[in-house]
Amino acid sequence: MCMDYYCTAKFTDLQVHVQSRLLYNCCKAYPERVNLDWLEANPGRLFHTDTMLEDRRLMLDNKSCTSCHHGCYKYEEQGLPSKRQQHINSTRITDPQSPLTDLVISLSTDCNMTCMYCNPDWSSSWQRDIIKNGEYRLDGVPVIQNDNWSNLWAKMKQKSRGTESRFFELLLNEIKLSTGLQSITLLGGEPLLNNQLDQVLEHVHGRKIKIVTGLGVNKQRLRQVLQITKGMDISFDISAETTGTLFELIRYGAKWKDFQDRVSMIEENGNKIKFISTISNLSVLGFNEFYETYAKKHEIYINTLDDPACMMPHILDDRSKNDFIAKTKLKHNLPEFNTILTMIKKTPEDKDRINMGDYLKQFSSRRSISLDFLPKHFIEWCGLKS
Ligand code: SF4
Ligand code: SF4
Repeated sequence: MCMDYYCTAKFTDLQVHVQSRLLYNCCKAYPERVNLDWLEANPGRLFHTDTMLEDRRLMLDNKSCTSCHHGCYKYEEQGLPSKRQQHINSTRITDPQSPLTDLVISLSTDCNMTCMYCNPDWSSSWQRDIIKNGEYRLDGVPVIQNDNWSNLWAKMKQKSRGTESRFFELLLNEIKLSTGLQSITLLGGEPLLNNQLDQVLEHVHGRKIKIVTGLGVNKQRLRQVLQITKGMDISFDISAETTGTLFELIRYGAKWKDFQDRVSMIEENGNKIKFISTISNLSVLGFNEFYETYAKKHEIYINTLDDPACMMPHILDDRSKNDFIAKTKLKHNLPEFNTILTMIKKTPEDKDRINMGDYLKQFSSRRSISLDFLPKHFIEWCGLKS
């Protein structure tokens, strides 16, 4: 296949997972584990490991690299959208040693929720589900499971680990040394639950700060964080894509009413809000209602989903696709809807349809959730009884 392999994100973006010591260049790319001895001996090179430099050189030679094949190229080769397309109009950078401008930090996987498109790599509640109920299997193959690290992590208390670690200290030093750094984004799990959030915020002054949250926190905790961050340049990227019962299924662990209440608290505090809507097949069923609720007041960013594969947006029955197309007829020219229309175009394979039914069944039965509210035609298409 003839294509241009270049992507600006490779030259500007780094995502760091403190807990697992993984570096992602960028968020969709295949990670590498940081060598702490090497980093200690090479301060200021967190964004310039040998692997990253080599990947950038390959890109400049218009060749594929493994980490981006994992994140983007393999989807593009199948005619599917990829994260890389969002960077298509960015300025072309030709120096592999170019400075880091956008840093994303995942503090830990502590989270009260088990969003359907998440997994134990990101959420401690997902880790506990696997410990209690076992792995999720689709087509006879384990698809959602804990690795040894997640098993260990799930059993440790937040106080006795993590951010005091050697890597965390080195990371704070890297931030200090990164003179070109413009923005820092804090991820979780759920960053608002993390005890060390204020310690991190002390080190990031002068940069644009973003907190990415599912708002799975109680009122008191959110109020406390809003007080600490008063006067700082902090915005919130809030993950959500549907409303009501469908929201409570996809973002299991959060209640729709509580979510709306927490959004109001942030609005009243005067922080900028952007919604991140991850478009899965289930969110296509309710995205229009979410858009109607919040689009007038806040930006809504459309995020692509590739895992679990059975939740990709095109894995829907024709009736659900046609209903979405008809219901949103007057919005087809809006970029959010235009993107979703492209996402649902591909014909689903039978294997994906069966896996979706299987996944829904395993996910809902572990949590005793009734699926009666979902469209009958979709449920039957997935091979589940209505
Ligand atoms: S090609 Fe994809 S995975 Fe690689 S840096 Fe760009 S957006 Fe990230
Ligand atoms: S809130 Fe975030 S970390 Fe928690 S389960 Fe949802 S997507 Fe995963």
